[in-house]
Amino acid sequence: MAGHLDVIVIGGGIAGVAAALESAAAGAVTAVVRAGPGATALASGAWHGPLPSLLGEALAAAGLPHLPVDTLLPHPFGDLRPADNAPATHAAARIDEAACVCGIAGLPHFPAAALARMWRAPRHVTLALPETPAAGWSPVALAAALERDPAGLIAALRQLGAGTRAILPAVLGLDPLARTAERVAAAAGVDVAEALGVPPSVPGWRLDRTLVRVLERSGVTLLEGRVVDRAVQDDVVLSVRVAVRGEPVLRELAAAAFVLATGRFVGGGIAAADGGEEVDVARGQALREASLVERALGCDVWIEHLGDRFREVQPVPLTDPVRAEPQALLRAGVHVDAAGRPRDVQDQVRYRNVTARGAVVAATSHGLGRAAAGAAGGAA
Ligand SMILES: Cc1cc2nc3c(=O)[nH]c(=O)nc-3n(C[C@H](O)[C@H](O)[C@H](O)COP(=O)(O)OP(=O)(O)OC[C@H]3O[C@@H](n4cnc5c(N)ncnc54)[C@H](O)[C@@H]3O)c2cc1C
Repeated sequence: MAGHLDVIVIGGGIAGVAAALESAAAGAVTAVVRAGPGATALASGAWHGPLPSLLGEALAAAGLPHLPVDTLLPHPFGDLRPADNAPATHAAARIDEAACVCGIAGLPHFPAAALARMWRAPRHVTLALPETPAAGWSPVALAAALERDPAGLIAALRQLGAGTRAILPAVLGLDPLARTAERVAAAAGVDVAEALGVPPSVPGWRLDRTLVRVLERSGVTLLEGRVVDRAVQDDVVLSVRVAVRGEPVLRELAAAAFVLATGRFVGGGIAAADGGEEVDVARGQALREASLVERALGCDVWIEHLGDRFREVQPVPLTDPVRAEPQALLRAGVHVDAAGRPRDVQDQVRYRNVTARGAVVAATSHGLGRAAAGAAGGAA
């Protein structure tokens, strides 16, 4: 860890990595503290919103180029979805007369016949691979197996004939640098493309892994750990205390400026607490009346709804019993001024030397692009 730090970015999802790249490119000595994967690692492969050029170039250089999307992309739920950008294997998944939907025997949730009907693809087939486990495949296990040895898939795809575009589930390798899709396409003599993924998502895994690579290549220091406390003087954060993975004692890190990019409920940036104790929903504790908290820097969190500011979890006004309807509770986040600095509930700047980015910022819209692009926020 560098002795002197200009900027500490808290959070290593898409928002934190985009912020760190900008900071390093501007010449600031930058570190990212990242507790682990967040919502970014659950993304489907469809990139919604703008792709900042610095980030786009860094993703391409680290093995995961994203292309603009000019078609609707097939989703395993049976619909075709818009996207602004996508990794090349997803961007190529055009459904037209050349498309053949390829299920894989033993892989659940990708029924080729039904999907071909719903996507209006002209052909479908279910491919049998050698050494299919008796219990079937999980997407991650299959992706790892195909990355190691795609020979069985190549042999099966050869039967489809030249001119075919095989639309496969998102299982063509875990590590983009292994170039599994390219190897398969070249050896099988057909075009290959991937449908979008569902959580736990292989495309999200690839993006998350590539973001860590991007940091390693950009001169940014990456520290695996969680910010658990901070030292503050008036409206300035002086330092953060970090529980570094594998270290018994907290590390104190000072910097001139901080970026809060800790995500929302999935990333862990926003949580519910009852009298200071975090509510453990997984253990059946009720969220009712718990306060919304921002865990790393203690910024105020609220939800603007029905002309009011809700700082507690109030299920009746904040949730809709129809699951698919917009849920006001999910908009919880910190609120920022025009410069991206967090505001307190009295609308005063809480910290002068902090900017908040990505899903930790309260917002209604969502998408990787909004999260990457700045203070505008993103879903989850
Ligand atoms: C299930 C799901 C699927 C989605 N699919 C798509 C999609 O297909 N396309 C799309 O465009 N958008 C999608 N989104 C939205 C998109 O993923 C998010 O808007 C975006 O990833 C938010 O990025 P972020 O960096 O702000 O947060 P996150 O990706 O959640 O990252 C937060 C980071 O902060 C870290 N962190 C949290 N607290 C601390 C702490 N105290 N100390 C240190 N580190 C900390 C976490 O470990 C993590 O690294 C999806 C969202 C969800 C929930």
